[in-house]
Amino acid sequence: MSDPVLPAIRASEQEMIALRRHLHAHPELSFEETATSDLVSDQLTALGYQVRRGLGGTGVVGTLRRGNGGKSIGLRADMDALPIHERTGLPYASRHAGKMHACGHDGHTAILLAAARYLAQHANFDGTLHLIFQPAEEGGGGAERMLREGLLREFPCDAVFALHNMPGYPAGKFGFLAGPCMASADEVRIILTGKGGHGAMPHKTADPVVASAALVMALQTIVSRNVHPFETGVVTVGALLAGDASNVVPDSAELRLTVRAMKPDVRALLLQRIRELTQGQAASFGVRAEVEVFDSYPPLINHAEQTAFARQVALDWLGEDGLIAGLQPLAGSEDFAYFLEQCAGCYLLLGNGDGEGNCMVHNPGYDFNDACLAPGASYWVKLVEAFLPA
Ligand SMILES: [Zn+2]
Ligand SMILES: [Zn+2]
Repeated sequence: MSDPVLPAIRASEQEMIALRRHLHAHPELSFEETATSDLVSDQLTALGYQVRRGLGGTGVVGTLRRGNGGKSIGLRADMDALPIHERTGLPYASRHAGKMHACGHDGHTAILLAAARYLAQHANFDGTLHLIFQPAEEGGGGAERMLREGLLREFPCDAVFALHNMPGYPAGKFGFLAGPCMASADEVRIILTGKGGHGAMPHKTADPVVASAALVMALQTIVSRNVHPFETGVVTVGALLAGDASNVVPDSAELRLTVRAMKPDVRALLLQRIRELTQGQAASFGVRAEVEVFDSYPPLINHAEQTAFARQVALDWLGEDGLIAGLQPLAGSEDFAYFLEQCAGCYLLLGNGDGEGNCMVHNPGYDFNDACLAPGASYWVKLVEAFLPA
């Protein structure tokens, strides 16, 4: 079978790999991506893109217009690394102790830069292309900040797309899932305050330990009794902190929860029931309750039409064999969800390899698979040419 990768991209594959490994060796944490954004912006400028810096702090947007077409497309890559100490032993391992590209954002950035080059030098399209390099995907909310600072007002897009590598799926295959694809992730902190005292005289106390034990059990009824049987959600009490001594009733107890949902209405229901149950339980035990929600990313919902379009591009190019079969939604979260709240689009997956020892992302042994660079960059080109036909 002939090589599906675009010849000019295959010809420059060694440069892509070298760039990816350079980024890997020099990881930068959320909102600190200064060297990375310098590199991205220098390359885009040299290729003739109009470059806008400063959105979301270290964010970079490169714009290229061709022809008279009024349509526009946005492609997004994330640039940040994680606070993990790398243990791959690779020659190009992180040179920054305690920081690591353990989610493959080095690969995503290298893929989009390679696509940028091909699109500027060889591609045939009619319309406007916005390449969005965002900071702080890993919990920092870089997408949300770029959007809040006017990204889509300054660079209107008819549709936006992003890709993420995914270990456990064959390298270079593409996965598409319409509708809910990634979960929301909220953290909830509950403080129950009672009245401490002697463990032998509990009738003189208002015991927050007993109240929290009952509350932990009550919270388990939200998913089983309040969420529709065909919907999903997670309410996990990951930490329960109270007391020091066996013979002392403490004054207070603290619960820390993670809350996940695949749909906005389920997310709202989970948070509402957590508040209601906490107040009801606290009242019944004579303790006071404070509930604090640290909301994080919303669920990522792919738009049906744009997902079908993106999938068709891969299908026309690679055939059924190039697609990941039986893809399931993921319980992780992803801040491209904010883009999809404001603009039509699709977040797609790119298999990172399913062989023995293929490490999951966020693991100190993980590495982005360089064999995915050329297919990833070729896919972006195919997508742009199909979305903005000349
Ligand atoms: Zn990650
Ligand atoms: Zn990631």
